[in-house]
Amino acid sequence: MTQPPSTRTARFPDGAFAYRDGRLFVEGVDLTAIAAAVGTPAYVYSTAQLAANWRAYADAFAGDGVEICFALKANSNLAVIRTLARLGAGADIVSIGEMERAMAAGIPAARTIFSGVGKGRDEMAAALSAGIHQINVESLPELELLSEVAVGMGLTAPVAIRVNPDVDAETHGKIATGRKEDKFGIDWGHARAAFARAKALPGLDPVGVAVHIGSQLLKTAPFERAYAKLAELVVQLREDGIDIRRIDVGGGLGVPYRPGDGLPDHAEYAAVVRRTLGHLGARITLEPGRSLVASAGLLLSRVNFVKDGLHRRFLILDAAMNDLIRPSLYDAWHTILPVKDPGGAEPVPMDVVGPVCESGDTFAKERLLPPMAAGDLVAFMTAGAYGAVMAGTYNSRPLAPEVLASGDRWSLVRRRWGVAEQMALESLPDWMQAG
Ligand code: PLP
Repeated sequence: MTQPPSTRTARFPDGAFAYRDGRLFVEGVDLTAIAAAVGTPAYVYSTAQLAANWRAYADAFAGDGVEICFALKANSNLAVIRTLARLGAGADIVSIGEMERAMAAGIPAARTIFSGVGKGRDEMAAALSAGIHQINVESLPELELLSEVAVGMGLTAPVAIRVNPDVDAETHGKIATGRKEDKFGIDWGHARAAFARAKALPGLDPVGVAVHIGSQLLKTAPFERAYAKLAELVVQLREDGIDIRRIDVGGGLGVPYRPGDGLPDHAEYAAVVRRTLGHLGARITLEPGRSLVASAGLLLSRVNFVKDGLHRRFLILDAAMNDLIRPSLYDAWHTILPVKDPGGAEPVPMDVVGPVCESGDTFAKERLLPPMAAGDLVAFMTAGAYGAVMAGTYNSRPLAPEVLASGDRWSLVRRRWGVAEQMALESLPDWMQAG
């Protein structure tokens, strides 16, 4: 039985972000001062909000003995990982680069799950030699290769098989991962055979089963459908003689991006997990990414120009699609707030765009915003997840710096990566050097 959806809705600013003395603050720090010190565009994160987002999970699952492994793909800044590590997070990684980051930030391989659909031989070997807690395998060829690598190293790989439950997560098509047409997981109909193969192959210990049906799920019903199917599979696998000790339920809990969106209901989500899987006596792992970090971060940007076209007003910012690609990639909405408190100013429609030479470099169309002028600062809210990690240097733009605030303090936790440093990685072939 699904519980009624939460009636609480989002408003902006909220949580660790608020207007004070006419300006937007992160905790006790004036964002205008951060912009003056580090320049724009810049990502800014709140320690208090990261902790609040962590607590929402910890409280909802208190006493259940679940393992919460932060999905680093959402935000892999070392200071962010370290903040969550100190609160008790393990890690969910999809590359050895992410494992190195997790370890550098204080999460050992023994508390790390290696997910992902296309791991390389070297990555498997590095994870095994580091003592990885679990490798989530997504295909039979991957199973065969992992067995070969583990045997070659004289080790046994703790394996969970990610199955594809063919459940529609009812989210954006590009972030739905649990339908049969998606590339992820082993087809439902092949799952038992895959486990049998894992049991037969040397060097593998099939310890568990995993699912992840998508990201930004705003309803719990798809989770419930997937987990109920998973429970049936666990019973069958145990009958088949596979000792399933762990169940990895993936991540995917959504966050509100627009004012009025419903807030994620962690208690309802925890109730779904308990109701569907609790009776199986297995160790449950969660892999949340977005819901731990999204609301803890914003992207700060400055208005370069206000351009009045024949039909539209354009707010041209110094941030672009290379800094925050979600609107271009997924038509995602980010609430945009002026850093100067607009008070009661009458909003007007504007297209909010960046300087990159693509029409797709558009953050919002006909967004109602208070009148603004060149030099004003704006904040893209809920940008702590899939923001900085997806940034690039298209148009030879620098990588935006990242800042972490805590109370009245703030610190630059990644400096701007400029074009001189980008060019330092390049070289001319010898035949171009002479003359
Ligand atoms: N686990 C796996 C295997 C994923 O692919 C993802 C994201 O796509 C996550 C966890 C994290 O998802 P989210 O950020 O929606 O919580």
